Formats: sequence, C-alpha cells, structure tokens
Amino acid sequence: MYETLETRFGHEWVATLRSEVGAFAEQNGPELERCRKAGSFPAELYQEMGKRGWIGPITPTDEGGLGGGVPEYCAVCEEVARHALISPQISVQGQQWLLTWGTPQQRSRYLPGIARGELIFAEAISEPEAASSLRALTATAEKDGDEFVITGRKTHVNLGAQADVILVYANVKDAGLTAFLVDAPAARLERRQTDPIGLRLLPTAEMDFTSVRVHESSVLGEVGRGFDTFLTTFNVSRLGNASELIGFAERALANAIEYAKVRSVGSGTVADFQGIQWIVSDAYARLYAASLARDRAANVAEAGGDVSLLTTLAKKLAIEAAEYAINECFSLIGSHGLYTDTDYGQLLQDLKVYRVAGGSLEILRNYVARRVLGSETLEGLL
Ligand SMILES: Cc1cc2nc3c(=O)[nH]c(=O)nc-3n(C[C@H](O)[C@H](O)[C@H](O)COP(=O)(O)OP(=O)(O)OC[C@H]3O[C@@H](n4cnc5c(N)ncnc54)[C@H](O)[C@@H]3O)c2cc1C
Repeated sequence: MYETLETRFGHEWVATLRSEVGAFAEQNGPELERCRKAGSFPAELYQEMGKRGWIGPITPTDEGGLGGGVPEYCAVCEEVARHALISPQISVQGQQWLLTWGTPQQRSRYLPGIARGELIFAEAISEPEAASSLRALTATAEKDGDEFVITGRKTHVNLGAQADVILVYANVKDAGLTAFLVDAPAARLERRQTDPIGLRLLPTAEMDFTSVRVHESSVLGEVGRGFDTFLTTFNVSRLGNASELIGFAERALANAIEYAKVRSVGSGTVADFQGIQWIVSDAYARLYAASLARDRAANVAEAGGDVSLLTTLAKKLAIEAAEYAINECFSLIGSHGLYTDTDYGQLLQDLKVYRVAGGSLEILRNYVARRVLGSETLEGLL
C-alpha cells in the first residue's frame, strides 16, 4: 500500500517497480511454477532479477546494487511476493551483514556478486537442537594459529546446497558467539538439500562442518560479537519478512475479491453477501495497519533511529494480517481455492515459513511484552 513509505526514488519508482516485477513474473510464470513444484532454485531467473537491482536493493550502485535503502528493500520484497517471484531475503541479509560489519576486503570480494545475484549467499545459524535461542547453539570454532577450526551441524539453511559463501555462527572458547564467512566449495562441506513446504524457490539444506578450517580474516565483525552482528541484520530483515507477508496477503485478497465479484450464488454474487463483505473489511483493515507499521519502521530505520521495537511490531502485525487474510480468502473462493492450479494453498504454506523463521511469532511477542513491561512509561501508555 505504501501510504507513508518514504522511498529515495519517489512514488513513480514504486509504480514502475510494480509493473516491471509483474511483467517479469508473468513472462517467466511456467518456469517459476516448474521450479516451485520441484523445490529447485531458478538460478538464471535469480541472476536476471539481480541485473534489474531486485536482489541488491540496499547495496550502493558502484558495488553492484540498486543504491536504495530500507524503504526500497521493503518495496522490492512486497512486489516480489505479490507476484510470486524469487525472494531476495537471504541475499539482502548477506548484504546487510557485509555493509555493516564487512572489512574492505570482505566487501570487495563478496558484496558485488551477492548483490547482482551471481554469488549465492546462505546463513547457517540454526542447528537441529537449537534455533530459537542463539545461546543454545553448540557449533564451535577453535583457534589454531591464524586459522579457526569449525565443527558443528547446521539445518534449515535456505540455499545451503547452492551457496558459494555461507555465514556460519559458532562459539569461540572464552569469547563467545562469532560469525564466519566460509567459502563453501573450498570448505568441502557435506550438504544435503531438504524439501520445505513453503518458499520452495529457496530450498533448504542441512550441513555438517567437520573440522572445517578458515583463515582468521573470515571472521565477520569481531570475535565474540555474534549477538551484535545477528541483531543489526535481523532488525532490518524482519521488515523484508513483513513486506513479503503483506505482498502475499495482497495477492490472495485481490484474487479472491475478483473471483467473489463474478461468482454467482443464487440471485447474486459471493461479494454481495454481507458476511463476505465483513471479511473483506477486516482483512483490509488489518493489512492497512500492518502496512503503516512497516512503513513507519522502514522510515525510522532509514533515518538511523532505534528500530528494535518497531520492526518487531511490524513483523508481528504482518504475520497476523497475512494469516487472517489468506485463511479467510477461502470463504470467498470456496472449492476454487482447494486445487493446485490456484496458489492459495501455496500461499498458506509460504506465510507459515515467515511465521516461524527469522523471528517466530512467539519470539516477537516475547520481545514486545518485555519492552512494554520493562519500560517506565510502558512504551507510551503512561
Ligand atoms: C523453511 C525454513 C527456512 C529457514 N531458513 C533458515 C536459514 O536460512 N538459516 C537458518 O539459520 N535458519 C533458518 N530457518 C530456521 C528458523 O529460523 C527456525 O526454524 C526458527 O528459529 C525456529 O526454530 P525451531 O524451528 O527449531 O523451533 P524451536 O526453537 O524448537 O521452537 C518450537 C516452537 O516453540 C516456540 N518457542 C520457542 N521459544 C519460545 C519461547 N521462549 N516462548 C514461547 N514460544 C517459544 C517457537 O516459536 C516455535 O513455534 C529456517 C526455517 C524454515 C522452516
């Protein structure tokens, strides 16, 4: 909706983005559908998106990106999700990590390729026994001369089997959680692709790090600052998650309304029923609120303000709005939505990924409660 999103390039740019993303998605619809069914990554289309700036919205133009900021990132995510294209989410997180913490050498080596969609980035944080709590991660990185030896098991890693470079979180003795940039082919990792029900264009993988050696220059940020590197990126990427959820819900609701307006039942159409109109009203209102919260968080992030609470609220509201809109669409579309030649089922599955990954709804609620209960003003209530 973008009612209050302040983009660097203006509203005309958003309108052009929408029509270009729509045309690209339509032109490549059959290939995208084939990959979605197979659970495979459409690498060539991803590179084409990179050439158009849709993989690197936040990276400067002279480093291969679009040269935008957080609002442009949000607009790209919303449009990509609205048109069922490949999510740039994981790549943008990689770019954010490098932009905030990368050394000049790390930046020049990885950033342009990642932003152009030519170098595939993945992040390996979650483990089979620990994902919601970073403190419970068990992977280790042991110092040995000017190298670190990484050992551990990672899971749920989007594009893990395809990645050229993987950001791995592991514990360094006496220092704590640390992030490492690992060149995947050189590390000879054991990687196994897995088969998620949602975001199927970004297949997941599990991988074993068995004494993988990396040079100490592979550390991202500083040794022991893993929590800081994690939060600076996730505070922004939660807005990408929120924007994609909004895009999913807009697609579902727009398609369902079009159908309900022409589907005859008795003497009228589905859209004539007041019970159906209230669903449209409630779904629209929730989306509107989520969209405003996303806009506000993006604008504050762009201005350099503290966004921890705002991004958490934006993603929480977007999950709830998308769950409501996509669930309730089935009241408008009936049996039409229950076949695989429509994408309402896939949308339900896609939204559940963002309900769990990148900060689950429960973890977001915990954070909002902690902030409100812990603040002297009850975050503006007093
Ligand atoms: C498709 C997909 C893609 C993913 N991509 C990546 C990736 O690229 N890289 C990566 O590192 N990880 C990735 N993840 C992992 C994702 O971040 C984790 O699944 C997520 O952190 C939740 O961890 P868990 O599934 O182990 O749930 P658990 O930690 O086992 O939690 C189970 C449930 O309990 C809830 N819960 C946990 N703690 C609390 C609490 N304190 N209070 C209330 N409820 C709580 C959780 O919200 C969850 O619903 C991905 C996951 C999926 C499914």
